[in-house]
Amino acid sequence: MSEKFVVANWKMNGSEALIATFAPALQQGLAAMNGRGAPRVAVCPPAPFLHAMAGRLKGSAVQLGAQNVHPEPEGAFTGEVSAHMLAELNVAVCIVGHSERRQLFGEDDEFIRAKLMALHQVAIEPILCVGETLAEREAGEHEAVVWRQVHAALRGLEVPGDLTVAYEPVWAIGTGRTATPAQANEMHALIRRVLSEQFGDDAAARIGLLYGGSVNAGNAGDLLAQPQIDGALVGGASLKPDAFLAIIHHAKR
Ligand code: PEP
Repeated sequence: MSEKFVVANWKMNGSEALIATFAPALQQGLAAMNGRGAPRVAVCPPAPFLHAMAGRLKGSAVQLGAQNVHPEPEGAFTGEVSAHMLAELNVAVCIVGHSERRQLFGEDDEFIRAKLMALHQVAIEPILCVGETLAEREAGEHEAVVWRQVHAALRGLEVPGDLTVAYEPVWAIGTGRTATPAQANEMHALIRRVLSEQFGDDAAARIGLLYGGSVNAGNAGDLLAQPQIDGALVGGASLKPDAFLAIIHHAKR
């Protein structure tokens, strides 16, 4: 992939007041890089702020992202949001399979697969998150776990369509611990092999593979320099425009 992709995951943080300062600062920072290989950027605020973020990002190249979706198109699913609803808000990308949803909300591979299919139907690009826990890594199961997660989420899909996969080792999310660039690159290579088996080498090469897990301005350069790392999914460091822009700078071509 020639262009890197940097995604902000605000999780359950932020406010309209933050959006009012963050969105212009981000756009100004990106404009200052104009013509100098600025990467693709998306911001995923909490669902109640999608509309406000869309308004503030209007006319800019920054894409709007959602953090979650329900697989059903409509119905008695109190508190949930469908893919069609996200499409009406001009959402371009949506995170699925985040480890917080797997762990805290009991989402399994089959449910994640259903979400991915729902997003494909409305042409919203899924950002499929996969990653092993610390116990799984220490038991030497990390490759098998990630292989299973990718395989299960994409089962039955003949062409990938627009798709991004994020490798996020659970032990590195919000902990200040990151995978070493070599560890991350190795896992990305494994994911690329799974994608090649399913979709062929050419299609697999076009799928962006992001690294996520305590990415910050200090470690982003080394991570993003790895040949198999096409970008970053950023949690904590994406809530401050300066910190997020510093990561984006490392993703310039
Ligand atoms: C995330 O939320 O996907 C994430 C990687 O968080 P953090 O950057 O805070 O570890």
